[in-house]
Amino acid sequence: MILEGLRKRVLHAALELRRSQMARGTSGNASARDPESGMIAITPSAIPYEELQVEDIVVISPAGEVICGHLQPSSETPMHISVYRKRPDVRGIVHTHSLYATVFSVLNKELPVITVPMAAFGPVRVVPFRLPGSQELADEVVRVLGTTERAVLLQNHGVLCAGNTVEEALECAVYTEEGAQVGYLALLAQGLNPIPDEYVAAMKDIARRGKAL
Ligand SMILES: [Zn+2]
Repeated sequence: MILEGLRKRVLHAALELRRSQMARGTSGNASARDPESGMIAITPSAIPYEELQVEDIVVISPAGEVICGHLQPSSETPMHISVYRKRPDVRGIVHTHSLYATVFSVLNKELPVITVPMAAFGPVRVVPFRLPGSQELADEVVRVLGTTERAVLLQNHGVLCAGNTVEEALECAVYTEEGAQVGYLALLAQGLNPIPDEYVAAMKDIARRGKAL
């Protein structure tokens, strides 16, 4: 099996997202880049976590073409490959809709460094809302991550963490969620920024056509 070791690590990260309740339903995804070949192992689109097997982890080229795997790669593949392209230091990425990090993203509020582990990667800035799975979202994530950042909130959507390994990206996601939970409890809610109407309409359209968001 191509990149079996790397695919196992991505599977483990995905199962950990599920176990820790940072991912619900089929939301969230994880990937890792093989430093030798540049190929990327990524979770498949819309498969329940309980059913995931190592052979379900899709191997794609740096351009996003499927090299190996019988399933579609994550719908957020543009976000993953765009970050890898711009950041040679990144070899692992985790994206979740974890509860408290998403609360901060809905508040459109930067998450300051408020806990000890956050010092390694905070403050966590907010990427403006764009359609999930779009290249526009990928471009905005790359812009806000810049050359050094490891974590960003995606407005009204969730969080993306990058690391030298997928395990490091997972750890970053865990501490971002913890920091957001602490921050929320310290701050209390301040108000809600809804998704812009035009995007709500566009997404209703996509959902109506039976596609996953
Ligand atoms: Zn998402």
